[in-house]
Amino acid sequence: MSELSSLPHYVDVLVVGFGPAGAALTNLLGRYGINTLVIDKADDVLPMPRAIALDNEALRILQMVGLAENAFNKVAIPQVRLNSPYVGEFGRINTVGCLDGHPKLVTFYQPDMEAALRQALIQYPNIQTLTGVEMQDFIDLGHQVQVQLALKNGSTHKICCRYLVAADGANSAIRTRLGIDFTGETYPQDWLIVDARHVRKPITDIEFTCDSERPVPHMTAPDGRERWEFMLKPEETREQVLQPEFIRQLLKPWANPDELQIERTAVYRFHARVAKQFSKGNVFLVGDAAHITPPFVGQGLCAGLRDVANLAWKLALVTQGKADAKILTSYDQERRPHAKAMIDLARVMGLLIKPVNPAAGMLSANLVKNLRRLSPVRSLIDELKIKPRNRFSQGLFIARNKEAHLDRGNHVAQVWLRDNSANGAWSDDVLGTHFNLVGFGVDPTSYLTKRQQTAWLAVGGKFLQINPRGQQHHSANNVDIWEDLTGELLPKYAPLGWVAAIRPDHVVMHDARVEQAHQVIEKSLALLAD
Ligand SMILES: Cc1cc2nc3c(=O)[nH]c(=O)nc-3n(C[C@H](O)[C@H](O)[C@H](O)COP(=O)(O)OP(=O)(O)OC[C@H]3O[C@@H](n4cnc5c(N)ncnc54)[C@H](O)[C@@H]3O)c2cc1C
Repeated sequence: MSELSSLPHYVDVLVVGFGPAGAALTNLLGRYGINTLVIDKADDVLPMPRAIALDNEALRILQMVGLAENAFNKVAIPQVRLNSPYVGEFGRINTVGCLDGHPKLVTFYQPDMEAALRQALIQYPNIQTLTGVEMQDFIDLGHQVQVQLALKNGSTHKICCRYLVAADGANSAIRTRLGIDFTGETYPQDWLIVDARHVRKPITDIEFTCDSERPVPHMTAPDGRERWEFMLKPEETREQVLQPEFIRQLLKPWANPDELQIERTAVYRFHARVAKQFSKGNVFLVGDAAHITPPFVGQGLCAGLRDVANLAWKLALVTQGKADAKILTSYDQERRPHAKAMIDLARVMGLLIKPVNPAAGMLSANLVKNLRRLSPVRSLIDELKIKPRNRFSQGLFIARNKEAHLDRGNHVAQVWLRDNSANGAWSDDVLGTHFNLVGFGVDPTSYLTKRQQTAWLAVGGKFLQINPRGQQHHSANNVDIWEDLTGELLPKYAPLGWVAAIRPDHVVMHDARVEQAHQVIEKSLALLAD
């Protein structure tokens, strides 16, 4: 933690908000060596009961952020069950197993994760953190942003930064000050969240009671925890429902309240809102400052992590003079549509969880039950294929065409690799957080001139060869060689003799036959240049 007396007057990036989105972004900027200050008006991690579920994409981003797999506790969730008081169980979403190297769904304890993110920052000398300090005002001067901070001792401090990131949560003062609309809706109901530790046998699933009067999501969490989310009836007040006896009565259908220690309670009103733009001038919105969703599909924080994975490397590249500032416009292009699509899914799920009346509840539960008999629809629901893919329709990649073999604008699959010394590693860790030109079963540099290779290296790019299992070659050109140990990449995902430019966030930028590797390099670099 920085001392107030040593506060800088200039940083490359100022992050306002040290919640999970701000902390994850700061870690990534730490990895890139960007001179960054992160501040928060609160003294410590917020203890409120908030995010509880993370998907495989969010866990993959935390891997990229640099958090060890055991940095905080998780429980892998094998299934999500949908129950109706009118028709019984009508849906079962299969979340067992892994995707891209991570469990499809886990529950966790948000304060532990935030503490781990803060702890991880200690390793970066380029990062300063300051809590108990509020961003009061700012002005975007075009070449930099001037920010006024209110310090704990009552004084103020002016600091300039090249880029200001608003990670200041749902009520973002920065978003308001920029005049960016936060369009959508606020739900009329209040919800009571109850986190408890128990002495009884824990449940293993997530279950939703889809009741028009009292819908209740209920889930397990690490370290013997369970959560219930109770929608309040119109006549119930916040004060009333926070009374211990009222909570005991609510819990009775699920557990003996004497076997539970109530750990945290809070009453929330949910929102479904997206900022009209995710950036303006030199200011960028991430996390809840950019979008807020009802938690019915557990995606608020996941979306914030997707934001920072998309933005961090772009800010780093521009700050380091390796790319033109125009690449920053792709942040809004790539992130906003997906954030909105997730919120739309949460709204639909909301209608299922909280039908408008018992008749609608019976109708929707029966509809889902019957639709699940049709196999294409069943996989949409049961295998979660309904979840919007984090695949860009436009942005910083060469447009998909019939020559493309890899899915440009989408994230490359993560697989288990082995090097020549028999060391195993996840492919994301091998790819790192820089550009890669990957050759599939081929040396990606074989058709490149020295000039083209040097240009790639100048943006921090590297060369990597991935071979089918059993083909171990020693590189002649300082190209790292790895084997696709489980055969998931070759040749199903990428044909032999193919190359792909992979972005630092592991999105496919361009691909072609190795003979066209020079075009892959040149077109990719052209996207970064002015
Ligand atoms: C009941 C509930 C359940 C949820 N469940 C899930 C779930 O299962 N999965 C999921 O992915 N998400 C879930 N979410 C959403 C998730 O909790 C949020 O999306 C996430 O915490 C937002 O992180 P953030 O960093 O963007 O913002 P925040 O965590 O709100 O952080 C913003 C920070 O900015 C600071 N700040 C604000 N203004 C200033 C200022 N002017 N100067 C300095 N500092 C400032 C604040 O003090 C705060 O620390 C849930 C939310 C709720 C309420």
